[in-house]
Amino acid sequence: SKYTKEDIFRIVEEEDVAFIRLQFCDIFGIPKNIAIAASQLECALNNECMFDGVSVEGFVRSDESDMYLYPDLDSFEIYPWRPQAGKVARMFCNVYTVDGKPFMGDSRNVLHEVVKKAEKLGLNFKLNPEPEFFLFDYDDEGRPTNKTHEKGGYFDVAPADQGENVRRDIILNLEELGFDISSSHHEIAPAQHEIDFREEDAERTADMIMTFRMAVKTIAKKHGLYATFMPKPTEGISGSGMHINIIAHDKAGNNIFVDDKGELSDTAKYFIAGVLSHVKAMTLVTNPIVNSYKRLVPGYDAPVNISWSSSGANRSALIRIPSKRGQDTRIELRNPDSTCNPYLAIALILAAGMDGIEKKMTPPEELGDNLKNATYDDLRESGLETLPMTLGEAIEAYQDDEFVKEVLGSSIFNKILDAKRKEWKDFRTCVTQWEIGRYLNIF
Ligand code: GLN
Ligand code: MG
Ligand code: MG
Ligand code: MG
Repeated sequence: SKYTKEDIFRIVEEEDVAFIRLQFCDIFGIPKNIAIAASQLECALNNECMFDGVSVEGFVRSDESDMYLYPDLDSFEIYPWRPQAGKVARMFCNVYTVDGKPFMGDSRNVLHEVVKKAEKLGLNFKLNPEPEFFLFDYDDEGRPTNKTHEKGGYFDVAPADQGENVRRDIILNLEELGFDISSSHHEIAPAQHEIDFREEDAERTADMIMTFRMAVKTIAKKHGLYATFMPKPTEGISGSGMHINIIAHDKAGNNIFVDDKGELSDTAKYFIAGVLSHVKAMTLVTNPIVNSYKRLVPGYDAPVNISWSSSGANRSALIRIPSKRGQDTRIELRNPDSTCNPYLAIALILAAGMDGIEKKMTPPEELGDNLKNATYDDLRESGLETLPMTLGEAIEAYQDDEFVKEVLGSSIFNKILDAKRKEWKDFRTCVTQWEIGRYLNIF
């Protein structure tokens, strides 16, 4: 590992760190933390910091709710946007029960179990996500809106606009937080942006996604803009996804998604088959909110059907193999969005892929034509299965899926199910502005 306890004490001293945030998240991936003064560091590093999990989503247990935080020393970073005298640092933590066992309501523990399983199979996964987001204006009363005056489009080099400066500032801050940013660009829609990370281990990638969301929102606000990861904040224009690219190495460090001839390997195909076979149920985790399903519609480079393509050019497939081959060969899963809990989403993706590898599953035939402009009718005619079209359909696919239940553990699995059923009911019973506009005049 990168840091020892002594390193952390020394850095805190040398860098004048006044507060350390011990961070974890609830089952929906919403970040939570308790802050301790630097004088309490000893207690934290001895895994003796306790908190009461009673009001954290998904944390309540019948017997008691006191839990311990075990900080991951290697995740120590100083927040560059906080005051530089009396700095603020943070460490991600794993949650443990009072009897010293990993608490299985903690998503970070769930991912850790999956990574341990990969190690047993001699596999090391690396991932690189591509989160997209919008930078919108605040209204006169300081409330976030989905409005913008920006007019940029795909890969535009705008004149010095706010978007460009915010993106620059975000990236500089992320680099200070130890990120290796591969590229960033203006996305298709006005005010939409994307920042891509270089591949990292699964657990670190999930931590980075958490940090990324916080950094993007924090820096945007400094520039007077509201950053949102909502998948479809405005109808009729592109939504925001978070493609996840996966690379797998064997113990010798060779990429196992490519064969001797430089082609996509059988192992890659098993992995793809595993993901495709579980993807419907997984969608409740990778695309967890009502609004997620407004993005997964034809016409906006978002996947609709359950398909794959080894052609890098095909952007309508759910799984695409980007054109790079050789040691850079990777599998891109295109349905996840940034409202997901990254620990659980990554845990499910890797577990599903490994299930495919272990069972040597065969993927369906790969997608030939680009169905980019296909309507729902075209897709139905093509005979391809579709991803869930609503949160309700995702719940149906999820509720009976034993595989997903096993990966998440029954506690998290059931809590997600209850919460999502309630969310769907709230939406189903809500009378929307759309209905009033469409029907009130006529009926
Ligand atoms: N925004 C698109 C989506 O919803 C992706 C566009 C792209 O990166 N080509 O997934
Ligand atoms: Mg991209
Ligand atoms: Mg993109
Ligand atoms: Mg992509």
